[in-house]
Amino acid sequence: MGGLGEVTVTIARVRVLESTRVTPTIHSVKFEKPAGFQFVPVQFCGLEFATSAGSLEYPMSLACSPTRPYLEFGARVSESPWKQAFAALRPGDEAEVDGAYGHFVLHEESPAILVAGGIGITPLKGMAEYAADRRLPIPVRLLYSSRTEEEIAYRGELEQLTRQNSRFEVEHTLTRSAETSTWAGRRGRIDAELLTQASKGLTEPVYYLCGAAAMVEETYRTLRSLEIPADRVTYEVFRGYG
Ligand SMILES: Cc1cc2nc3c(=O)[nH]c(=O)nc-3n(C[C@H](O)[C@H](O)[C@H](O)COP(=O)(O)OP(=O)(O)OC[C@H]3O[C@@H](n4cnc5c(N)ncnc54)[C@H](O)[C@@H]3O)c2cc1C
Repeated sequence: MGGLGEVTVTIARVRVLESTRVTPTIHSVKFEKPAGFQFVPVQFCGLEFATSAGSLEYPMSLACSPTRPYLEFGARVSESPWKQAFAALRPGDEAEVDGAYGHFVLHEESPAILVAGGIGITPLKGMAEYAADRRLPIPVRLLYSSRTEEEIAYRGELEQLTRQNSRFEVEHTLTRSAETSTWAGRRGRIDAELLTQASKGLTEPVYYLCGAAAMVEETYRTLRSLEIPADRVTYEVFRGYG
């Protein structure tokens, strides 16, 4: 698979393989991967299934690399009919997947700084898996902001990826952790200092921002104030989170 132009769109019915609550508010579902389904790391799909309000489709980033033998999605659960039905999916249930779309795609030859706000981790986890599975010779540094320690999604998988790929590093920061918690790591938002620190020693890294609009906009402005050229900043905005 080379450029985006070669990726064909597939619409297929798929069955659930696994359905897991990964944090108190984030649910993750793995589906079987239809024969011939193609995507580049990491695009999004339309995901449709039966809900209490009829059959509904939402745009959802893939949360895995195309090198994996399944399709994975992760969502922050809310009271909406689609989210309630997503969290209730069980192995064997059916959905329709339509994709893949979008241009939020890893540049395989440039150092990468992945910047995730909350559920915005989904496509960035997929990019990190891809870099590890394909043994890409580029440094990949993930800055991942979560509200609290228990809200860090895919923590074990990300740690496993740091073992699989010595060029992959993860820096967590917590934005709403009580001062009394036992968290010994970084606190606060992803700011100019953290972004500057992450770029140390890298030649012309590309930045990948993903999360709700406010987080992506703030990080984009910070990078521009640090004089990072706009063509080295790419982003996916999860609209629908205010
Ligand atoms: C490319 C893309 C990839 C995404 N990937 C993920 C993902 O991996 N995980 C995840 O949890 N979410 C993802 N989202 C967001 C997801 O599609 C939902 O919009 C979001 O999760 C909110 O859903 P909800 O049911 O909680 O809110 P809802 O109750 O459906 O909506 C809350 C409010 O947002 C508005 N809204 C909802 N969706 C949109 C939209 N797409 N555009 C503009 N306004 C909207 C509604 O009208 C309502 O006012 C993605 C969105 C896009 C565009």
